[in-house]
Amino acid sequence: MKTDVVVLGAGIVGICVAVHLQKRGRAVVLVDRRGAAEETSFGNAGLIQREGVYPYGFPHDFGALLRYGLNRTIDAYYHPSALPRLAPFLWKYWQYSRPARHAEVAKVYSKLIEHCVAEHEALAAESDARHFLRRTGWIKVFRTERQFERRREEAELWHREFGINFRLYDRKALQDLEPHVAPVLVGALHWTDPVAVDDPHGLANAYLKRFEALGGKFVQGNAASLEPQASGWRMKTVHGPLEAGTAVVALGPWADLLTRALGYHYPLAVKRGYHMHYRAAGEAKLNHPTLDTERGYFLAPMRRGIRLTTGAEFAHRDAIRTPVQLGRAEPIARELFPLAERLDTEAWMGARPCTPDMLPVIGRAPRHDDLFFAFGHAHHGLTLGAVTGRLVAEMVTGEAPFVDPGPYSPERFHA
Ligand SMILES: Cc1cc2nc3c(=O)[nH]c(=O)nc-3n(C[C@H](O)[C@H](O)[C@H](O)COP(=O)(O)OP(=O)(O)OC[C@H]3O[C@@H](n4cnc5c(N)ncnc54)[C@H](O)[C@@H]3O)c2cc1C
Repeated sequence: MKTDVVVLGAGIVGICVAVHLQKRGRAVVLVDRRGAAEETSFGNAGLIQREGVYPYGFPHDFGALLRYGLNRTIDAYYHPSALPRLAPFLWKYWQYSRPARHAEVAKVYSKLIEHCVAEHEALAAESDARHFLRRTGWIKVFRTERQFERRREEAELWHREFGINFRLYDRKALQDLEPHVAPVLVGALHWTDPVAVDDPHGLANAYLKRFEALGGKFVQGNAASLEPQASGWRMKTVHGPLEAGTAVVALGPWADLLTRALGYHYPLAVKRGYHMHYRAAGEAKLNHPTLDTERGYFLAPMRRGIRLTTGAEFAHRDAIRTPVQLGRAEPIARELFPLAERLDTEAWMGARPCTPDMLPVIGRAPRHDDLFFAFGHAHHGLTLGAVTGRLVAEMVTGEAPFVDPGPYSPERFHA
């Protein structure tokens, strides 16, 4: 089999790259060792985070560091045995998260985030998938005035700097907005621009269908078999050998396995996360995806049920699953919202693919003209999938990129 471009990895990022390239007249084969969007892109919280101009940083206040150090919080948890290997990443991450530097990162990142809703809406419209998108925004609920005040100030700053919109609800207004949430909250901050996807796996598969309708092919194969040729690339698939002029690596948390084999050493790490679905008890309804800010877990109304997702677990990507945060969050979530029985037999786990500077790696590989990278989207791979797909396709085909790709360049770790 011969093709113009092989895209490695059929998560939300790879699928969006594939569909954008196919739309531009390139013959594309998308390869995954599994089905489409069965890994990290399967089980996320479903937010297209238009407000997410500040990528999630490493905390810098002493109180938070102490709490995380004790390893008893819900929003972050770590495997002590993983710390020695994670230390170089965490050190760099911490440095990039210094307030002044974080603000610089946000200035750049906001240029990508700015397009996240528009690009998904365009792709969803042509993929007959708009029904997956709910224009509800999402809410942060607060248990203390202090936290409410702090986040209000932050939201006002983001509004001034980046035009991010929000509404505030006091205790009473929040009860009207979410009548089934327990009256233990002092108020809420509602990000009104983001879009909530009520089935991220369904959305990714709708994009895949669009790709196939345009003539693209999705096949199973192992990216580790990719080998450079005198011109282009060759790899094995279940349908036999595949030759491609150009390759795009969109392997999410597994990207470094291939890039290392090709001579590129990226300082990547993962933040693992878990989910569990619950039936809402009786007639209870959750109208908005909701972050219990002080407790550090998230409830998202999905087609399957209420999806509880957890924050960051610092561990080796392949270490045994330890859904400790889920166990801690569940009883608290049950007090906040009437959750009935669990709907999954076991907790789902995904691994957010992270870079220390909190920016994804998007662009041409430093030492291979016919190789492109699209990974490292951390907490925002769904958010930025469609934006990344368009940007990579424009770079591969030599069109003028609609966003300056400079800050995401794969060169930045190879000075
Ligand atoms: C709990 C949780 C909540 C989240 N919530 C949100 C959210 O609300 N909004 C948001 O924007 N993001 C969210 N994220 C992050 C988001 O899910 C990820 O950033 C995104 O899914 C990454 O997509 P990807 O395509 O890069 O990687 P993946 O979806 O992991 O895709 C990589 C693909 O590569 C394939 N692959 C790996 N190795 C090989 C190989 N050797 N050969 C062939 N194929 C291979 C895998 O099978 C997989 O299909 C969340 C993540 C978690 C864990």
